[in-house]
Amino acid sequence: KGPDPDLVAIAERMATVKHKILILSGKGGVGKSTFSAQLSFALASLDFQVGLLDIDICGPSIPKMLGLEGQDIHQSNLGWSPIYVESNLGVMSVGFMLPNPDEAVIWRGPRKNGLIKQFLKDVHWGELDFLVVDAPPGTSDEHISIVQFLQATGIDGAIIVTTPQQVSLIDVRKEVSFCKKVGVEVLGVVENMSGLSQPELVAFTEVFDSSAGGAAEMCQEMGVPFLGKVPLDPQLCKAAEEGRSCFEGQSCRVSAPVLRGMIEKL
Ligand code: ADP
Repeated sequence: KGPDPDLVAIAERMATVKHKILILSGKGGVGKSTFSAQLSFALASLDFQVGLLDIDICGPSIPKMLGLEGQDIHQSNLGWSPIYVESNLGVMSVGFMLPNPDEAVIWRGPRKNGLIKQFLKDVHWGELDFLVVDAPPGTSDEHISIVQFLQATGIDGAIIVTTPQQVSLIDVRKEVSFCKKVGVEVLGVVENMSGLSQPELVAFTEVFDSSAGGAAEMCQEMGVPFLGKVPLDPQLCKAAEEGRSCFEGQSCRVSAPVLRGMIEKL
């Protein structure tokens, strides 16, 4: 039996992609897509060629967070063309394929896996420095698929986004364990919504109980890097709602420097 033709096609596509990074979270709503979007904006602002692939098939929020709602995917003889926010930032999401964003996507595992395979095989990214993959929350079929499909070409690692509460951290442990089992390096853990930033106050207000030490302590215990804390920042939320980069201008005075510092650690 020869090599799987799909895996060969994926390896050919990925041959022009230097780094592949997965963005994971144990739970939904912790800020994974916000981080994926802002990481992509940041890398693009540093003049890297960036692709952002949204495989959160049941809840694709990337089109909105990059200001690309209502766009349609085009096909050429080279494959599916990503939608470009800037000449060096291309985006692909199932959100671009849904006729109505309010419609629920009710797909079983094999169909989701089929689409992920197609995204990896058929999207014409061209030369990329970074492919950022926004995965669904948890560890499900989609995660096993993406790791399996990219195995031949390798994944640089995963960044796990969490909030400080115990209920979220318990699930992060599962993500770390998943990464260890499938051989994906954990590049670091981001503690998001860590305190509330109020521009008029210097100190952050604690929102969630962090007496147990939060993500930093968990990282130390599990032997994975801690990237830092992003506060709950109304300006960051506004940037995400408006599909903007938080690094432009002075609009996100608190979270933009924190995020940039994390990205420099990678
Ligand atoms: P997930 O991808 O984990 O489901 P999202 O990135 O969609 O989570 O974030 C959920 C909501 O919280 C979004 O409306 C987003 O704009 C907001 N949000 C995320 N992180 C922050 C933050 N640090 N400060 C303020 N709002 C945030």
